[in-house]
Amino acid sequence: MKIAAIRTHLLEHRLEVPFESASMRFDRRAHVLVEVECDDGTVGWGECLGPARPNAAVVASYAGWLIGQDPRATERHWATLYNALRDQGQRGLTITALSGIDMALWDIKGKALGVSVSTLLGGRWRESVRAYATGSFKRDGVDRVEDNASEMAQRRADGFHACKIKIGFGVTEDMRVIRAVREAIGPDMRLMIDANHGYTVAEAIKVGRAAAEYDIDWFEEPVVPEQLSAYAEVRANQPIPVAGGETWHTRWGMNAALQARAVDILQPDMAGCGGLSEAMKIATVASLHGVRIVPHVWGTGVHIAAALQFMAAQTPDPVRVNPVEPIMEFDRTHNPFRQAVLNTPIEAVHGTVAIPNGPGLGIEVNRDALAEFRMKDA
Ligand SMILES: [Mg+2]
Repeated sequence: MKIAAIRTHLLEHRLEVPFESASMRFDRRAHVLVEVECDDGTVGWGECLGPARPNAAVVASYAGWLIGQDPRATERHWATLYNALRDQGQRGLTITALSGIDMALWDIKGKALGVSVSTLLGGRWRESVRAYATGSFKRDGVDRVEDNASEMAQRRADGFHACKIKIGFGVTEDMRVIRAVREAIGPDMRLMIDANHGYTVAEAIKVGRAAAEYDIDWFEEPVVPEQLSAYAEVRANQPIPVAGGETWHTRWGMNAALQARAVDILQPDMAGCGGLSEAMKIATVASLHGVRIVPHVWGTGVHIAAALQFMAAQTPDPVRVNPVEPIMEFDRTHNPFRQAVLNTPIEAVHGTVAIPNGPGLGIEVNRDALAEFRMKDA
């Protein structure tokens, strides 16, 4: 079995109503899938987090090291590609592109052996996970407080046990949003806040202290990810557990954050941190620090499937009688190709997501959808 071709699929959808986090404005959804084809016809799928075209360019540049190789040698290929661009590429696009390739190779290995990726990662501890709903971005032309509150009331009605809202737009308005959402969802639904590194340390501490009375499970990306000591300062000076990690890459990047005591909850992204190979190592490193893992998920059904395979294989914490079950991030913002790229979309039913158990990632990609949402000029 040999790798015969590596392709990327650039996907795009223009949004009628643009939305914003504290760090990014979205007037379109754009993602890139990686397709690795073998000489026996087996195809594996992956996805890269971050800007589609630059990721595709790096994926293409990696191809020369992989064509003609056995796709099942995931660890060897990871090391080869990492070493190839290591001197300039220990984080960023080099790693997000590597993540998409690694994901596709695991998909192939599972298909070749007739088992799910989670079986290969150590076995399935669970067949489903509870999902939390991500949304409440700032949308153009609407009142943010009312909009966020009504959206999350709907997520409660959909059956989600937890939701995460976007803050980082200014302390006073953010506190109005947090209060309104808590009132809208009632006292029992779990609530998380995500600042997308929009605050200074002083602002984050102020928000954390004020928001604690609204029973917040975690405070995500309070400050910019490069400043690990700022994270630690926020963590030490307000009562809400701090989460982060969607922009930190590889075991070395994550370990730096863990050693700085930056977070209570680490959020590796399967399409960004270095892929499934690296995510398993990161989980081991996090366990040494007693830090909980909740993967970051943002993209299409391919990425969702990879996160589910990873979560299926996460072992319970051996020192806890009642270990905390992993929960799955489920983006609920508008993206028509998120589900369309899969022949059988992965949905949350009453807030719970079944983990596919077919070979590889357990998905089939819908090529009609790839054509329909193909990026212009791609
Ligand atoms: Mg986030």
